[in-house]
Amino acid sequence: MAKVTGLVCVKCARRYGAAEHLVCPHCGLEGILDVEYDYNEMRASLARSPLKSRSEGSIWRYADMLPTAGLGQRSLRVGWTPLYHFPRLGKAIGHDRLYIKDDTLNPSASLKDRASAVAVAMAVDKGAGGIACASTGNAASSLAVISASVGLKSYIFVPDTIPKPKLYQLGACAGRVFRVAGTYEDAFGLATSAVEKWGWDNRNCAINPYLVEGKKTCSLEIYEQLGYRVPDWVVVPVGDGCIISGQAKAFKELKTIGETARVPRMLAVQADGARPIVDAFLSKGDVMPVRASTLADSIRVGEPRNWRKALRAIRESGGSALSVTDDEIIQAMLFLGKNAGIFAEPAGAAGFAGLLKALRAGLIAKDDVAVVIVTGSGLKDPESLALHVQICDVDSDLRSVEKCL
Ligand SMILES: *Cc1c(COP(=O)(O)O)cnc(C)c1O
Ligand SMILES: [Zn+2]
Repeated sequence: MAKVTGLVCVKCARRYGAAEHLVCPHCGLEGILDVEYDYNEMRASLARSPLKSRSEGSIWRYADMLPTAGLGQRSLRVGWTPLYHFPRLGKAIGHDRLYIKDDTLNPSASLKDRASAVAVAMAVDKGAGGIACASTGNAASSLAVISASVGLKSYIFVPDTIPKPKLYQLGACAGRVFRVAGTYEDAFGLATSAVEKWGWDNRNCAINPYLVEGKKTCSLEIYEQLGYRVPDWVVVPVGDGCIISGQAKAFKELKTIGETARVPRMLAVQADGARPIVDAFLSKGDVMPVRASTLADSIRVGEPRNWRKALRAIRESGGSALSVTDDEIIQAMLFLGKNAGIFAEPAGAAGFAGLLKALRAGLIAKDDVAVVIVTGSGLKDPESLALHVQICDVDSDLRSVEKCL
């Protein structure tokens, strides 16, 4: 594991010890913390054991760049998901330097497993009696699944509007599922009180600084899978802003320790109906909360909690931000399905929709190497396509089949 030298507030830059606080006490929930390591030690560790020489096929391949030694083979395998380059797909969109990072292939079928694995490992390290979170979807099921695999009891608080596939995934794997009569905010409030009363560990994703560390492994893999090259663009769907912050941090740290010479540009993609980070990027100001509305539930975030880190990731990398319509998201789901065989949930396909838009606008150039991260599986939310898939209803004779050919 890497040596954490401190936690730095992204708002006021005050420094704290590794385990002192979850958020900056001066800035409250706005004071999200950033994990800093002993980068000399990290550099030395990579010199002793170069990335190329490693054989572990999971996020624990990068244990010496993470705040915990990890769970190794004792838990579900998270990460080391494929990076695809399909010439056919490139041809179909007129951009052959496109790579798809398929994070639907994690144990609970979303990128959130990378963060949950780090949270669970740290909870196991300190002997926590249980771990809790409030969430509407992937963060919850991811926490439940990884916790179950190491025998840590998970306590999950969800609003009663939760989609059925996610509820049953929780029902099968979680220690306890509390379906709260009310909104996500009600569930969040109840989870916070319960954590205080029963002393469970708190995996509320957007604020726990160590979760971004897990998400960073996705880009460490991208770097290796591209043959130890840095892409020109990394395209990421954005809700709270943790995933994009993690990708930027990975490349920044690779540069800090002298493994690479530059960082890629980050392209943040939001939905038209939930684009506070895009608006803040364009206005060069702070994020203004909005009432969010989009079919893509995993990025339906009107008050992103990690917006400072996200904006910093975009700006420092010379990146950009744009939004796509729900219809463009549906088209991207179908296009990825038909041309790559990858079934993404709406938020999972939003990055690809954003890439298409950026290509049309000339933001991403013809010879730029672009990586799109597909963050979650379509099996999480199949109903989103109910009105958009073409199914041929036939009688049991060939004539009705022929009519549909
Ligand atoms: C959580 C999530 C996102 C957005 O990640 P943030 O860290 O909230 O920006 C995107 N896609 C999927 C599938 C997710 O579960
Ligand atoms: Zn602060």
